[in-house]
Amino acid sequence: MVEQQIPADIEALAVNENAEIVLARRYYRKDIDGNPTEDATQLFWRVASAIAAEESKYEKTTASTEILAKDFYSMMANMEFLPNSPTLMNAGTPLGQLAACFVLPVGDSIEEIFDAVKHAAMIHKSGGGTGFSFSRLRQKDSRVGSTGGVASGPVSFLRIFNTATEQIKQGGTRRGANMGILRIDHPDIMEFIRAKEREGEFNNFNFSVALTEDFMKAVENSEDYDLVDPHNLEVVNTLNAREVFEILVQKAWEKGDPGIVFLDRINRDNPTPALGEIESTNPCGEQPLLPYEACNLGSINLSIMLAEDEKNGISVDWDRLRNVVHLSVRFLDNVIDASRYPLDRITEMVTTNRKIGLGIMGWADMLFQLNIPYNSQEALNLAEKVMEFIQAEGRAASKQLAKERGAFPAYKDSIFGERDLGPYRNATVTTIAPTGTLSILAGCSSGIEPLFALSFARHVMDGDKLVETNPFFKTALEERGCYSEKLMDAITEKGTIADIDYLPEELRKVYVTAMDIEAEYHLKMQAAFQKYTDNAVSKTVNVPHEATVDDIRTIYWMAYEQGCKGVTVYRDGSLQSQVLCTEGSK
Ligand code: UDP
Repeated sequence: MVEQQIPADIEALAVNENAEIVLARRYYRKDIDGNPTEDATQLFWRVASAIAAEESKYEKTTASTEILAKDFYSMMANMEFLPNSPTLMNAGTPLGQLAACFVLPVGDSIEEIFDAVKHAAMIHKSGGGTGFSFSRLRQKDSRVGSTGGVASGPVSFLRIFNTATEQIKQGGTRRGANMGILRIDHPDIMEFIRAKEREGEFNNFNFSVALTEDFMKAVENSEDYDLVDPHNLEVVNTLNAREVFEILVQKAWEKGDPGIVFLDRINRDNPTPALGEIESTNPCGEQPLLPYEACNLGSINLSIMLAEDEKNGISVDWDRLRNVVHLSVRFLDNVIDASRYPLDRITEMVTTNRKIGLGIMGWADMLFQLNIPYNSQEALNLAEKVMEFIQAEGRAASKQLAKERGAFPAYKDSIFGERDLGPYRNATVTTIAPTGTLSILAGCSSGIEPLFALSFARHVMDGDKLVETNPFFKTALEERGCYSEKLMDAITEKGTIADIDYLPEELRKVYVTAMDIEAEYHLKMQAAFQKYTDNAVSKTVNVPHEATVDDIRTIYWMAYEQGCKGVTVYRDGSLQSQVLCTEGSK
């Protein structure tokens, strides 16, 4: 690693306590004895200067590399924007793999299957997550020509991917995450739907069933549909669509897995159909990609995109948001060039489409400050307004970059080229990620999720426990003279103030948590953001332990009707170990 001289006018950065713990565990560069060789200021300068350095290779750049490095630094140091974890970990280092999301094809031969296992291992080692469709694999017990034996089928091979992942901890600390997808018309679909019945099985995978429009119509009409062997395209069985859908709903009720993705819908929005079909997303579902494609993400912290004046009170600071969007798009486009990918084929795909995924975090915190309940029409309206703005400004920034640097190479054959909408520098610009770690670093609520609890114990990495109270909630209590240790203990136990009826009504309306919010509003919020997001939206529809199978069915159906690209439901307490849990949760 080249030692970076930090300019004298760069202000040293003090990050919050939780951020420091996470940075020290996973993000700081370390010497061979495992001692950090950098602090937060050095980390963000390492990233800012490495990403800004990419400018120098573009002749028509309008920005000076040094000024840009400082702008990138302040944007991150102020926690206005953070790139995805691999960029923070690896920018300016010899590894240099900066993307969080990859999709790899799995072909129907032993060679291709083990190529995918190997490529996934290389990606996990560098901090990226992988998604795969297993739909090309021939069904279990069908004939294997070369040996005269029988095939093991997708679920059996999935076990190998899961075990391989288990053995490769990302960068020594973060275990690889995977998405496994199977089409609803694959002959082994029932085995796949039931594969995660046993707790702990396939624990390095999220599973999603790829649903088609034909299948959804068959469910509506309670018709049979065909299962097709992908190897010889023969119809091998028929099932009743409604019965299969019911089992899918039942399993999601039991364990939160599998989720569903609407594959036709995803492909309708595929910006480059000439380059192939999208068959999978990344592990958390927010980034559909072509085989061998990768994408780097970044998130803007909405909790600080607010301005206050005497006349209007607190409102969205659109000017600041616009500036941060433009600078972030430039940053993420540079990340594509700065990144070193584990395979040449990935480099080729990534530099052809130049997809980036700019999203947001701190949405629930923004609503708290604006005094808008998450479960209200006003919140849904603002969600659309904010995301429409980010998408429009993000595309404007991508257009500006195309003028300076040229359109993404596949532009002519893309849906933009055909409609003569561009040229754009990037085939996609927006994605809403979960921001699991980024939100801890920025000290804000994650992604577009409501708070899981207003005060809670966070179990992170190797059993460490951090008690956290939402700062806006704490201030609101203090301002109203309601704050007391005893009250806080009660809230940490429950997570919510929904039934603490001596607290003011307006407080209980605005400070809602995931469990207080009706499933319908979780879903509507996802749909509101999806409307203005090029890629997809990471969102979990959290429902209380008491939710019924009927409730889950309604949510799945609403997701379909409201234009979501997929949906994940989690019923509280349906898994033994939860990453986030309130002290009193089941
Ligand atoms: N991801 C991963 N392993 C992890 C967490 C995330 O591979 O342990 C990848 C995965 O593709 C996921 C994406 O990073 O969909 C974004 O996740 P998130 O926003 O939570 O990541 P962060 O940048 O906050 O670490």
